[in-house]
Amino acid sequence: MTVVEVARLHKAYGARVAVRDISFSVAEGEIFGLLGPNGAGKTTTVECVAGLRRPDGGAVRVLGHDPARDRAAVTASLGVQLQDSDLQPNLRVREALALFASFYPRPADPDELLDVLGLGAQAGVRFGKLSGGQRQRLSIALALIGQPKVAILDELTTGLDPAGRRDTWELISAVRDRGVTVLLVTHFMAEAERLCDRVAVIDAGRVVACDSPSALTTRLDAQQRIRFVPSAPLDDAQLAALPGVESVSRHGDELLVVGDADALSVLTTYLARAGVLAHRLRVEQPSLDDAYLALTSTHAS
Ligand code: ATP
Repeated sequence: MTVVEVARLHKAYGARVAVRDISFSVAEGEIFGLLGPNGAGKTTTVECVAGLRRPDGGAVRVLGHDPARDRAAVTASLGVQLQDSDLQPNLRVREALALFASFYPRPADPDELLDVLGLGAQAGVRFGKLSGGQRQRLSIALALIGQPKVAILDELTTGLDPAGRRDTWELISAVRDRGVTVLLVTHFMAEAERLCDRVAVIDAGRVVACDSPSALTTRLDAQQRIRFVPSAPLDDAQLAALPGVESVSRHGDELLVVGDADALSVLTTYLARAGVLAHRLRVEQPSLDDAYLALTSTHAS
């Protein structure tokens, strides 16, 4: 069942077009990531899904409802954690949760949620006194207090240390295991790889790829990067002319040969015939980072 449907979304701020043409759909129980460089249009997209902004064109549906028209129906089933969420500094953690709980017909038990999020000991602490990681956990708790069917989480681990980030990933997996569909905005490839079933890579207001993290990297699997230090001089032009080799470059005494999936066997056969050994031989497979960089123009604004 499709829970979130975004079709040909368009949104501009005055003359600045933030979202040009974004379409994707999120199935029930999925963790779906929006990945892309700064200013790509991710936050604008999730704000349209949350009903916080009205699209200029295209359609958004959350559980069949239009968030811009049917705010009440969408709000009841949606939990939102947006970037830089701020609360009154004097508000205590449990008070904040109780306040948010009062907005929903069937809220979760605030104390239980605090325990699950590792904030039990901070229940009486004022927001202004929380650490960055604790604020982040509280913002996740506030997104989940209404027992939403869909949770939107925007850069939820930005500013967390590696341990805090890993804890948060476990938490989000647990949230999904409880049946919540998650729409996640992230800058971190590792986060997308670890958490997301599928990822839409967004660049300059458009979806440039939409697939599982492993499928995105497999698209580049055809390419290999082979590094080695030859035991005797080699002619770069001859190497570059080998079938399947795309480029040859030198980095100090190391050679970098980039080529297709057959390049390694072609290269080793060539080296064996030439009587040259390949010292410190390494073959690098592409990562989601490489896929992402290949798909996006990093200077997009
Ligand atoms: P980031 O990763 O930096 O959070 P993003 O992918 O979430 O970026 P958006 O925040 O959606 O991108 O911004 C998309 C574009 O719209 C950017 O060029 C941004 O400067 C512009 N923009 C966003 N919000 C506003 C606003 N309220 N008024 C004017 N322009 C805006």
